[in-house]
Amino acid sequence: MRSGSQLRIAVLPGDGIGAEVMDACLTVLDALSRRTPLRFDWKRLEGGANAYRETGNAFTDDAMQACERADAILFGAMGLPDVRYPDGTEIAPQLDIRIHLELYAGVRPIRALPALPSVLRDPRAEAIDFVILREQTEGLYWSRGRGVMQDADTAVDTMRITRAGCERVFDYAFRLAHVRRTRGRPGRVTCVDKSGVLLSQAFMHRVFSDVAARHVDAPADFCNIDAMALNLVRQPWAYDVVVTENMFGDILSDLAAGLIGGMGMAPSGDIGDRHAMFQPCHGTAPDITGTGEANPTAMFLSAAMMLDWLSERHSDERLKEGARLLEDAVRTVFAEQRVLPVEFGGRDGTREITEAVLNTLTRSS
Ligand code: ATP
Repeated sequence: MRSGSQLRIAVLPGDGIGAEVMDACLTVLDALSRRTPLRFDWKRLEGGANAYRETGNAFTDDAMQACERADAILFGAMGLPDVRYPDGTEIAPQLDIRIHLELYAGVRPIRALPALPSVLRDPRAEAIDFVILREQTEGLYWSRGRGVMQDADTAVDTMRITRAGCERVFDYAFRLAHVRRTRGRPGRVTCVDKSGVLLSQAFMHRVFSDVAARHVDAPADFCNIDAMALNLVRQPWAYDVVVTENMFGDILSDLAAGLIGGMGMAPSGDIGDRHAMFQPCHGTAPDITGTGEANPTAMFLSAAMMLDWLSERHSDERLKEGARLLEDAVRTVFAEQRVLPVEFGGRDGTREITEAVLNTLTRSS
């Protein structure tokens, strides 16, 4: 960030609780801006299921171009179960953005926050700290919009795996592992597949071996997707960087979010070589929309990831410091047990959690 310049952030609140947690997040980022040299120029963009219902277009080309021009994209959530395209699939402009901007690496840090109840009784659950890395441009979801009805009773979707698609996300995994090793983590990369059953998966497995051979300093291993579902529940603290194809990664991310308390705790970044979008792992949660119960923590942590990514991109330590201030404020609020989200059986919703984070931010310097 040049001195005095603003960061152009495309803001896509979307539907349901997406819009609720986004409002909370912008309030917190504006407060951060008042305490730091960071300056934001919010470009609010329409899109999602409500936009589709009202206009027949879920996301305009203009909005896509605005995303392309932005320094980064901050995304709430889009899609509603009762608003669908004629083929029966849900409105999901986030998937179109991922493809259009080649946001191939879905980075989902799974990190337990302090002093919160855990679904796991083992005390090591406090030390859960790993990253799920989900390939986002191919895999089984490549078939979105390409599925075929072979006849009236047979639908076929295809899993597409390419060497180029695998190599870029595996290389990302090893780079991430390297960074984590410098921070005292093991720096091990685990490739999750089903190579014994599907050709596409056996190929992905082979490409991982090739890429791992280029990173001899980094420990690497494999795990079958079904075994991984078991292991993540039994010993999630044993993992560091877990890389997998698109749909496996989608499913494991929700499982992993459950390990640290729920969807409201899990942030994410959709990262490409030139663009990036940051959003909570959760969807629009129609069941709690309008109740005030939505936990905005994942949205705040996604915004911290955005500042971190921007700091790398612009080699600007002020952005890294902003990310640290925001993340520390969130962690402090939980460490000091100032809130207990509804998700954890507590009483605190969007407003209470946002106020607690704002108070902590204003207190810190
Ligand atoms: P999508 O397919 O769009 O990712 P989903 O079907 O996985 O969405 P979510 O919208 O993520 O569903 O919701 C899953 C469950 O988690 C719901 O019961 C919802 O209320 C809960 N949930 C999701 N996000 C939050 C949040 N921020 N705070 C509290 N509960 C949440």
